[in-house]
Amino acid sequence: MSALAEALVAWRLAVGDEHVSTAAADLERCATATFPTCVEILAILRPASPEQVSECVRIAARFGTSLYPISRGNNWGLGSRVPTASGCVVVDLGRLNTITAFDDEMGTLTVQPGVTFRHIHRFLEAAGGRWFLPAIGGPADASAIGNLAERGDGAGPTGDRASHACALQVVLADGSMITTGFGMFDNAVMTTLSRAGPGPSLDGLFLQSGMGILTGATLFLSPMPAHLALMRVHVAGKQTLAASLDVVRALMRDGVLQPNCVAIWNATKVTMRGRSYPWVEQEGRTPLFMPGTQAGQSWFMTATIHAASASIAAAHGEHMSAALVTVGAAVEIIDEATYPSLRAEAAGALGLADDITAASVYWRKKTAPPEALAPEADRCGVHWVCLALPLNGAAFVDAVSFIEEATFRHSFEAVISGSVVSPRAIHLFVAIIYDRDVVGDDVAAQLCHDEILAGLAARGVHPMRLGIQAMAYLAQAGEPYAALMRVIRCAVDPKEILAKGRYSF
Ligand SMILES: Cc1cc2nc3c(=O)[nH]c(=O)nc-3n(C[C@H](O)[C@H](O)[C@H](O)COP(=O)(O)OP(=O)(O)OC[C@H]3O[C@@H](n4cnc5c(N)ncnc54)[C@H](O)[C@@H]3O)c2cc1C
Repeated sequence: MSALAEALVAWRLAVGDEHVSTAAADLERCATATFPTCVEILAILRPASPEQVSECVRIAARFGTSLYPISRGNNWGLGSRVPTASGCVVVDLGRLNTITAFDDEMGTLTVQPGVTFRHIHRFLEAAGGRWFLPAIGGPADASAIGNLAERGDGAGPTGDRASHACALQVVLADGSMITTGFGMFDNAVMTTLSRAGPGPSLDGLFLQSGMGILTGATLFLSPMPAHLALMRVHVAGKQTLAASLDVVRALMRDGVLQPNCVAIWNATKVTMRGRSYPWVEQEGRTPLFMPGTQAGQSWFMTATIHAASASIAAAHGEHMSAALVTVGAAVEIIDEATYPSLRAEAAGALGLADDITAASVYWRKKTAPPEALAPEADRCGVHWVCLALPLNGAAFVDAVSFIEEATFRHSFEAVISGSVVSPRAIHLFVAIIYDRDVVGDDVAAQLCHDEILAGLAARGVHPMRLGIQAMAYLAQAGEPYAALMRVIRCAVDPKEILAKGRYSF
């Protein structure tokens, strides 16, 4: 019997026959992303508990088989469920779907990897609605732990996922299990309340790394605001855009705006929400907005104002409005004191997980999105480029102008959004959205993705998250940094059992 066949026998015993699949249709589904891939998957394991995960890893280590963990596998535009290397067995953690603890006093939630944003939203609403978990603009059935594993971003004060999580429960490459931070002690009262205990902090080692399998984590929730207001800003032209971002930097520095509460979208991103490409009006032409035209120059910002009272919200709103109007932005403040349905309409910024924005992956398809989105099977084309930029108007405008030029040259829309994550940094997200059934677009989209990454790298602008189509990017990292990362990886996983090729240097 081959090592794989022996391992399969052992995994079947460990997790149950029906939770190990080698069916061609399952493997094919798992190997399909929203762009071309060429990866062979050997099997899929579906353990139901951290102990079963640990046993699966021990078996893999014994037989020298590589495992690739996914939580919900909704990493659309960055690889979906597809491993970074061929010849892996995928560990699908969807059956570990329990919310294991909720601290209503401290605002923490401890979850397993199969728990989705939709599940969390419903749970917290039913628990009284005092707290929310910042949700993503992507699929509602994505996993909070999958998102954390990738250092994702959500909308809301604790939306910088990696900075608002602790007590990572991790299965290591030999099958042993640890809990990070104060979890190093058996009885620590701070385990789910603080990110670091004494000594080096290990959390970062297990995010964007593939060096362990997360089987649980505690997430810090955002308090539901006592009073909510929303600032909507429309900016026409790049000069005003740059000046407005500089004003946002000052407002956040002064504590008037909160991190992850300011979103910025270009005209295309706004236009495509809930809509399909206007093929008839465009008489089949692409792209929709030409850079340089008036429509293509419009940008929109929204900022949620989380305040302790109506008067605080009004004062903040007035202050922000006055500052932004000075640089020529059009500002509207909507306050729930005078607009009672605001909370319902802005629910996306208060933890509501829905698929409205996620459906935009069908933008270039000739048919409307189905109710249950399945972009890989439906041959939706999506590549994401996720960048970190200084929160500086001129730097932002320079980067987006380059991105617009590159996407336009390949006949795609520049779909650009951003989230202000601190007074110093903005995360910029570029989606290249296309129809995989259009001959040539797979190649054009990949070229466009590569050109954006390379062109921005030359300007010193680098990604803060990589899809499987871009893992080779890390070859640009300098020594001895890269050498140290190789040493650490080799020490933690000498036999390359876990997530081979993922964020490896
Ligand atoms: C229109 C659209 C909008 C989006 N908006 C956002 C957004 O606002 N913010 C954002 O962050 N993302 C966004 N995304 C990207 C993506 O959909 C999300 O990041 C989503 O959370 C990833 O899917 P998942 O949570 O199911 O993770 P998975 O696909 O399960 O995991 C992603 C990767 O993380 C690693 N991983 C997963 N689980 C584990 C584990 N338990 N242990 C170790 N490693 C693990 C694996 O390498 C895996 O491939 C968007 C995508 C689209 C298409």
